[in-house]
Order: sequence, then C-alpha cells, then structure tokens
Amino acid sequence: MGKYSQVANLIKEKGNVIAFTGAGISVESGIPAFRGAQGLWEKYDPEEYAHINSFVSEPAKIWCMLREMIKLTFDAHPSPAHLALGALEKAGFLKAVITQNVDGLHQEAGNTNIIEYHGNMRNLVCLKCRKKIPLKQEVLTAMPYPTCDRCNKAMKPDGVFFGEQIPISAIEAAHEAVENCKIIMIIGTSGVVYPAAEVPFQAASRGAAVVEINVNPTPFTSAVTQYFLEGSASQVLPRIIDELGLKLSDAQP
Ligand code: NAD
Ligand code: ZN
Repeated sequence: MGKYSQVANLIKEKGNVIAFTGAGISVESGIPAFRGAQGLWEKYDPEEYAHINSFVSEPAKIWCMLREMIKLTFDAHPSPAHLALGALEKAGFLKAVITQNVDGLHQEAGNTNIIEYHGNMRNLVCLKCRKKIPLKQEVLTAMPYPTCDRCNKAMKPDGVFFGEQIPISAIEAAHEAVENCKIIMIIGTSGVVYPAAEVPFQAASRGAAVVEINVNPTPFTSAVTQYFLEGSASQVLPRIIDELGLKLSDAQP
C-alpha cells in the first residue's frame, strides 16, 4: 500500500485530526515563507524586520516591509492545500487547525476552529494604550505609518513579532486540541520557531500519530514523524483528500 492510502486509512480509522501549519502552506497562495527566502524576504531579513525591537525603534522602516506583506496578504487566495483542510473539516475528520500563519487564509478555506498561534493581520494595535482598529487597505497609504488617534504612536499589525509573547488564549486552545487529537498533520513549517514548534512534540508524546508534509525534511522528521509525505502541500493534501473520496470544492461554506 502506498503512503497516501496508508495515511487516508489512518484518518478513516482514527479520525480526530489536527493540523499544525506554517508559512509553507501559503507559498502557493503567493505569500513567501521565511526560510528558503524568496521575494519579499530576500529584501528584508525576517530576523530583523519581524522583530519587535526593530518595530519600536524604527517603525517607518518596518512599515515599508509591512505594506508589501499586507498587500500580498490582501491579494492572496486559499491554495489547494488550504481547501483540502477545509474539506477535511467538513467531512468531520479535522477538529482544529493550529497555525503559525497570520494571513487569514485558513478562514477563507472554510475552517472554523483555527488557533492563531502568532496572532493575525486583521487588526492594528497601539503598543501604548492597546487600542485595536481593523486593518483595512487604506492603511497602506498612511505615511510614514498609521498612528493611534489617542497616543499618536505607530500602530502595529496584531501578528506576533519575534520577541513578543504568544497570546495566552492560543496556548490554552492549542493545548486542548493536542490533548484530544489522534493524528497531527505538520504542514509546511520549518519547526525552528519556538514555542510554536513544541506543539507537534506534545502531540507525539501523548500518542498521536504524526504525518508530516514538506518539500524538505525538518527537525520533526527524524524525531517524531511516522509518515513523511515529501512535496508541496498543494499537491500532497489534495491527493489525500482524493483517497478519502472527498473533493476540494467540499471546502467552501
Ligand atoms: P518557515 O518560513 O520557517 O518555513 C517554511 C517551511 O515550509 C519550510 O520547512 C519549507 O521547506 C516549507 N515549504 C516551502 N514551500 C512549501 C510547500 N509548497 N509545501 C510544503 N512545504 C513548503 O515558516 P514557519 O515554520 O511557519 O515559521 C516562520 C514564521 O513566520 C511563522 O511564525 C509565521 O508566523 C511567519 N510567517 C507567516 C507567513 C504567513 O502568514 N503566510 C509567511 C511568512 C512567515
Ligand atoms: Zn494608543
């Protein structure tokens, strides 16, 4: 039996799948990942540009990168991989998506229980008074950056930057999802960003079967992965859906 049918059978037998996703699942939606840097990240080193200290000291510089990233995100559509996860939820197999992504594409693919470990780009937040406002296309014209109307300080997208805390609600929700799952699918993540990367290890230590989908092996592969499906998430996930007799078009609400 091929690996794809093995994984499909596993899903049918055990159900209760969670997905743990990273930037790789959105590459085919046109949003480049940090590692294997392309496009945007050849120009802007993420370790510098996505660090909170850089934002605080040089908001105008960081907003040059943010405008480009926000534009990419506004223009992006769910990839076949996102849609496959939508279909997997509709069929009752997938119980939660724990994502490190901030692009909102899992929502667009019809998933409903999405744990955003690194926040999202739907809002802007003031670091001083914590006021939040929706992040709309108009902010792209605010020069040199959008400011808080109470404090006049630079506003920051509500995604978690390096050096910032993970939202406690996301940690708790991820913990609960891991406790209950029978299978974890690790998709398109390099596994080097902590504490997020602890999630698959926690699931494995609780006895979950581990399926991993990536174009390259990662630190998870030799440590916890039982089924490594090498390839692009947008090719691999639709094949699994097909083995299960589901369709990508099942995803949309
Ligand atoms: P990463 O950039 O560190 O690693 C990307 C991983 O995806 C690599 O392992 C790579 O081999 C794999 N990959 C690349 N193309 C793929 C494809 N088509 N199919 C399957 N796998 C593919 O990403 P990360 O592990 O998520 O960590 C980076 C951090 O950057 C995250 O915290 C995330 O918040 C943030 N980020 C988010 C976005 C987004 O929201 N779309 C984009 C860039 C970075
Ligand atoms: Zn403020």
